[in-house]
Amino acid sequence: MDNNPFVLSARRSVANHFLSELRDAGLQKDRMRFRRNLERLGEILAYEISQKLSYESKMVQTPLGQSSIQLLKEYPLLITILRAGLPFHQGFLNFFDHADSGFIGAWRNEDPADLQVSVDYVSIPDVNGKVVVLIDPMLASGKSLLNAYKQMLARGTPSSLFIVSVVAAPEGVKLLKENITLPYSLWTCALDEKLNSSFYIVPGLGDAGDLCFGVKE
Ligand code: URA
Repeated sequence: MDNNPFVLSARRSVANHFLSELRDAGLQKDRMRFRRNLERLGEILAYEISQKLSYESKMVQTPLGQSSIQLLKEYPLLITILRAGLPFHQGFLNFFDHADSGFIGAWRNEDPADLQVSVDYVSIPDVNGKVVVLIDPMLASGKSLLNAYKQMLARGTPSSLFIVSVVAAPEGVKLLKENITLPYSLWTCALDEKLNSSFYIVPGLGDAGDLCFGVKE
């Protein structure tokens, strides 16, 4: 694996405005803006990842002649963890518009003594030999991502693996390093300080699912 995660916020770009609005305790209450900012960051990471994919020359017929252009050899398969992953996933789909999609429902008990993540919904196309982008907006403990990875692996082996998040905690990054058996690269918009005792990312942005869709039971 590439040991250095790609961290979008380490560069100076307008993407930092979208991240800042996601974090801002006042602005993040605007649900539509919150979802749209996740989507915009998904678009930007999709573009960044697209530079690592394989291309082939194609000819396109214009009304006036022919133009040679490098096009993707294959679209990646996008697998996203519900539910906060949905707007972020949409951002990836906006750019990888012919991609197949898979979804995994994961929920956590939030027991301060022993965080457990359960998976109760898995809908994934064939992953064998595919370029897979595994999407979890909040890479906190890393347990949801690891569970999703195992669900994916039980169904086949991708040719390459990109793992992406909006905010990642060092604890999650470490869990992946120790447990992901395939080569992979990690792409995140921000790498934060730590987890708190409820396994939320600090400074993070709060509960991304609730901010997108409302507080759950
Ligand atoms: N999930 C969230 O939505 N936020 C966190 O900080 C951690 C997990």
